[in-house]
Amino acid sequence: MRRLEGGKLVVATHNAGKLEEIRAMLAPHGIEVTSAGELGLDEPAETEDSFLGNALIKARAACAATGLPVLADDSGITVDGLSGAPGVYTADWAEAQGGRDFMQAMTRTWTELRAAGAAEPWTAQFRCTMVLMWPEGHHEVFEGVAPGHLVWPVRGTLGHGYDPMFVPEGHDATYAEMPAEEKNRISHRARAFALLEAAFA
Ligand code: IMP
Repeated sequence: MRRLEGGKLVVATHNAGKLEEIRAMLAPHGIEVTSAGELGLDEPAETEDSFLGNALIKARAACAATGLPVLADDSGITVDGLSGAPGVYTADWAEAQGGRDFMQAMTRTWTELRAAGAAEPWTAQFRCTMVLMWPEGHHEVFEGVAPGHLVWPVRGTLGHGYDPMFVPEGHDATYAEMPAEEKNRISHRARAFALLEAAFA
């Protein structure tokens, strides 16, 4: 069995918030971590309609470009009152001139929930699909889900993306009101990573 230990690993992301979280999770494993963003790799178009499809696109692109093992993460939020939207299009809802604007994406989510007449609590799930891929093509898939609900107005300044709008189940604070260590214990990404760790322990 392959072990998650030592060596170099490329995290296939250009998202600084995700990278920071994944780096913290990998830190105890003595792995030298770099990222697609730090290496200046092109960001491939995410043309699939599933988290797994898009994670595979990112993993394959980074593997081909570096010849190194790669960890790719595709994630997003599914909102029950919006029939699962924005889902794989979570990042697209933030697309704005000059970069990503998550206040815009969260405002759209709130506006659409109200337009749909969705009853509160606005239940939602953060989802993360991680793909660990080796250069010869073998890969393993790990999926993490964090259930919770959305709040308006948004709260908190920590974290990234939709963090200020999401309260994980069993908590009162939003992800953006939690210290990174706490979010990293309970998040969708942490849950996917725990499965990966268990598989390679
Ligand atoms: P991806 O780069 O296509 O995987 O985009 C995922 C998008 O989902 C991000 O740009 C964020 O908007 C959102 N997202 C994923 N994980 C998190 C998280 O942990 N907190 C907040 N937003 C997240």
